[in-house]
Amino acid sequence: MIQLLRNVGVVLSLILLTACAKNLQNTSILGDEFATAIIEASHLEQIGQQGGINLNKADNLRLENTLRPLLSSKVLSSKNIVAILLKNDQVNAYSLSNQSNKAYIYFTDGLLKFIENDQQLAAVAAHELAHIYLSHHLQRLQGSSAKFNRVQEFEADKLSIKLLIKAGYNGNAAIKLLRLVERLQTNLVIVNKQDYPTIEQRIANITPLITAN
Ligand SMILES: [Zn+2]
Repeated sequence: MIQLLRNVGVVLSLILLTACAKNLQNTSILGDEFATAIIEASHLEQIGQQGGINLNKADNLRLENTLRPLLSSKVLSSKNIVAILLKNDQVNAYSLSNQSNKAYIYFTDGLLKFIENDQQLAAVAAHELAHIYLSHHLQRLQGSSAKFNRVQEFEADKLSIKLLIKAGYNGNAAIKLLRLVERLQTNLVIVNKQDYPTIEQRIANITPLITAN
């Protein structure tokens, strides 16, 4: 299952607030079984820290139905991607990945209430999927400079547009989402803000891809 991602580590990547690179363990020496153990342990840690899993059927069905078109074409990775809804009122989404054959994407209850429609939920998911497909979690273990974070965000945004369009979603949903986030961020103090692209830069980065389709 894990032919494409041979690198190391588990990190978190957040979309709505600035990204958080949390290096949990370098597993390159100990192999794939250890990598699997690490990601499962990290997943349980996340569940514990973030308020537990929201098991509401309607919410989970919404998440599942929105993600299905994005996950149906496994051209970029053979990873088993698991989507988790967190009982957490903060507006956030992030992903957990390492060289094991599994990756987790977390969506908070706060995010589900914040976004305006399922197209925007798909845009959030596509951004996190892009980070996973591009092995960004693994790259972050090898150093995390401001320039590096910016490059990763631009790369993830670009790939997310391709994923959205391929899955039948409207690429413009990504821009609408970024505008919403921009409004949210005006009321927040953001740590290491200078290390990440601005919303305007992110929109400028993806606009040519959307108008071209
Ligand atoms: Zn990101």
